[in-house]
Formats: sequence, C-alpha cells, structure tokens
Amino acid sequence: MQNQHIIETEHAQTEGILVPLDLPGFSIHQQQWQEDGTICATIIAQACQACCPQCQHTCTKIHDRRARKKRDLPCQTHQVNLILLKGRFRCEVCSALFTEPDTMCGWRRRTTRRFRQHIGHQALKQPLSDVGTQPHVGSRFVQTCFQMVLEEELRAQGCGEDETVALASPRFLGIDEFARRKGHVHDTILCDLEHASVLEVSEGRTQEAVCMDSKNGLKLGSKKEGMILRHRKQRLFLRAKEELTEEEEQERSQIGRRLPLLEHAWQMKESLRDWYATAMQETAIEQLEEWIDQVKASACDPLKKAL
Ligand SMILES: [Zn+2]
Repeated sequence: MQNQHIIETEHAQTEGILVPLDLPGFSIHQQQWQEDGTICATIIAQACQACCPQCQHTCTKIHDRRARKKRDLPCQTHQVNLILLKGRFRCEVCSALFTEPDTMCGWRRRTTRRFRQHIGHQALKQPLSDVGTQPHVGSRFVQTCFQMVLEEELRAQGCGEDETVALASPRFLGIDEFARRKGHVHDTILCDLEHASVLEVSEGRTQEAVCMDSKNGLKLGSKKEGMILRHRKQRLFLRAKEELTEEEEQERSQIGRRLPLLEHAWQMKESLRDWYATAMQETAIEQLEEWIDQVKASACDPLKKAL
C-alpha cells in the first residue's frame, strides 16, 4: 500500500495541461514541476542573429548560452520561473563578445515585463502593502511596478515626462499621496475620477506639488476648472447634517450634485439617522425595512455590503 501511495503521488505531480507560453520570440526548451509546486520552464530566444553593439554588424555565430533565472506570471496558483538560455554572440568582424538583448524582461531585470505589469495593475486596485503578500514579493518591488504601470498609462495618453504640457481637464479630480517606500517622501497622484484614469504623478507631497487656490479650484499649468474631492472633503459627508454650517452644506451639496452616487449614499446615511432619532416602537421595524429595501434597490454597493 505504501508503494502504491507513492506512485499515485508521483503520477499526480506529473499530470498537467499545456498552457501557451505567450511570449513572442521565445520557445520552450524544457519544463518541469518543482517539489514546492513551482513550474520551471527553460526557454530560448527564437532569433538566431543579433546586432553587434560595437560595429553594428549582424552576427549569427552564437558563442555560448548562459542560464538566467526570471520570474514570470503565475499559472493559476503556481509560481512560474523561467530559465532563459541567453545567447552570447562573437562578432565575426570586430570579435566583440556580447549578449542578446532581453526583450522579455529588459536589461538586467529578473522578472518579465508582464509580471511587473501584473503586480502594478493589482497595486492600482488595492493597498500596496497587500499586493506583495501572495506572490511573496517585497514592497519596494510592488512600488516599482506600480510606478511603471502609472508611467505606461500616462505615456499611452500621450503625456510624457514633459511637465510643461497641459494636462487634461477632468470634471472631477482625485488627489492622493503615496510613499514609494516606507518612511520616504510622499508623491502625489492625480486621477480623473470620472474615467478612473491616472493623469499625473508628481514628486513631493500634495501641498508642494499642487498649487491650489483658496476656492478649492486647481491651478496646475493651465488648469483652473474642475472640482477637487480631496480626502479633506470627506468630513462634509461624514459629519451629521445639522452640524454643518450653511457654507459647508452648500459646498457638500455642490459636490453631491456632481457625484450622484456619493450624494445618494449620503442621503441614505442621513435617513437612517433620522429613523434612529424619530422611530417609534410601532413603526420602527416597518420603517427600517423600507430603508433596507431602498438600499437594496440602489446602485450603492458598499452600502448593500454593509447590510
Ligand atoms: Zn562587431
């Protein structure tokens, strides 16, 4: 029985399905399961020529290959390590010895570009500190990936490094700050809340990085239009309605008119407070159920979750 059990375990470990490598220009040379559940694939570049960096001659003579370990996107829950057999060329003209360019990872990178993009996109949706837990990567790596994805997004929108170029004018501008590393200087991120896209990442904290005028408008290059919902304005929605001054209520309702979902959530919050303050023993249950029905019918998912 003991033997049979071992055979079954071994058999289970070798079973698997084929998943496309999906790395253009590379072929799988060999692949195997590691004991810790990691998938290890040895890959090789399909290109059999490279340009000599010294004399620009197109070289075809591969001198040798060296194994380089790279981390790739996980396959289901399995960590994937690639062993790239990197070719070194000997130039036929100037005898220079050089390594083929790394199109998959970038120069001297130990992770594939797509793995870094995957981590960076996760960091867009959840706290940076949570992102690295499951893939077991460090917070510094997560932040590098996060920044890479932000920069890629900005480039895709045609915004380069040139800070003099005017930014798009979003109707609702989100501002937040984040530290690239624990205890380090905070950077500021500007987002278009309506279209959930990144507009700008500036070095330094909000106060220094963004020049704001006294009426909560924005002066950023040519920008004077737009509303800013900073975390500072949250208090207008969190505090009890009767505690707001007339001016604060005006500001709150102005923001609410532009962000209907937020306004609706606020009204629901206030009506629950009203219910608590005024409900009588005979009507309390009925009124509360009415309120719950209204929440269920609303598009406000966080409120529904709280039920
Ligand atoms: Zn050469």
